[in-house]
Amino acid sequence: MSFHLPTLLMVSGIVAFTTGLLLAISWLQNQSERCLYFWAMGNIVGSAAPLLFVLRGKIPDLLSIHLANITMILCLGLSWAGIRVFQGRTFGWVALAAGPAAWIVFNLVPAFEASMTARTIIGSTIISTYVLAGVYEHWLGRSERLISYWPTIIVGTIFGIVYAARIPLALVHKIDNQRDFFNSPAVAGTIWIALIFTLAISFLRLALVRERAEAAIRKVASTDQLTRAASRQAFFDDGSASLERCAAQSRECTILLFDLDHFKTINDRWGHAAGDQVLQEFALRTKAALGPRTLFGRLGGEEFVAVLPYIESKDAFFLAENAREAIALKPFRLDDCEVGVTVSIGIAFAHRSGYDLERLLRHADKALYCAKHNGRNRIECADVEERAQPRAAA
Ligand code: GH3
Ligand code: MG
Ligand code: MG
Repeated sequence: MSFHLPTLLMVSGIVAFTTGLLLAISWLQNQSERCLYFWAMGNIVGSAAPLLFVLRGKIPDLLSIHLANITMILCLGLSWAGIRVFQGRTFGWVALAAGPAAWIVFNLVPAFEASMTARTIIGSTIISTYVLAGVYEHWLGRSERLISYWPTIIVGTIFGIVYAARIPLALVHKIDNQRDFFNSPAVAGTIWIALIFTLAISFLRLALVRERAEAAIRKVASTDQLTRAASRQAFFDDGSASLERCAAQSRECTILLFDLDHFKTINDRWGHAAGDQVLQEFALRTKAALGPRTLFGRLGGEEFVAVLPYIESKDAFFLAENAREAIALKPFRLDDCEVGVTVSIGIAFAHRSGYDLERLLRHADKALYCAKHNGRNRIECADVEERAQPRAAA
């Protein structure tokens, strides 16, 4: 199969320009995503390269060879800079300028400038360095768990290796005139791969940015803004899932319901802002006391809830006691006062109450009522539910 190389080059240029425009539009919609700006600029600048190559022999070599290579190198340099920005790192303008500068410096040597093999080797070295450096940046950020990371890393690695492979290939398969260049299957193959890379990487980059934005929105929606505990909705979603897993393995799962004691008095005496600080400090201390495997959420107001999966009931009770002491034993130091705070806790165990979250919460709520009724700053378990009085009687 043979391809008309000038047509292939034209298509590559148009694809790079169009995807560059798409990235630019995305950047205009969300200018805080500076990576999109660099990636858009990269594609738009790089789109000039294949169009200049097409004109080889018709325009001065300075444009069709040197400017074309410089725009291509700059394209990959901007692409690398965009990846650094996406990963939350800074990038050196020196590193960005180093690629084009290296090309210019080498080509000041007449013997080098005259050899297409030498030019291919230096151009491919610079380009594969930028591409593989960008892949490495993504690799470092892979713990972010965006699905598009892996295809991005794979596509980048393939492209980087293809360009690196051009270095030994240039020595074996020497092209030293313009006719050989336009008839070379190796050149056509590289342009095809560059064309596919441009398309794939541009869409993957849009996907990366979109995925990250969606994850941020999900995080905001699932977190209580004041206390950083799970929001009510997130708690119900994750709590039910946790209970289902425990039920499937017949493992214990414990629900703790917290209600700060006489919280209204704190608000009344020290002000609403101080009350907010108490809620924040309460959440911090309780989360620390319950440990990392606990799902901790805010139901509303000064009521919080925790799910302790896979923990035996006596250990769960011990953790609840830890949490109660973490609040009661050390006064809360606020901006301009020190406040003694206590919390009452109701506990319900899935082994006794069943694995239904609503039912567990009902039982824990009755136990909590007993804790309040029996003097506050204490823990009661749901097996006292029969003794519990209706809440309205409080
Ligand atoms: P008890 O020991 O019986 O639980 O008494 P309490 O005062 O803690 O309970 P009550 O339900 O009477 O009062 C809860 C108060 O919590 C009333 C409400 O103004 C306050 N509150 C609810 N949400 C917030 C909040 O986000 N910030 C602050 N500062 N106060 C809040
Ligand atoms: Mg309450
Ligand atoms: Mg209360």
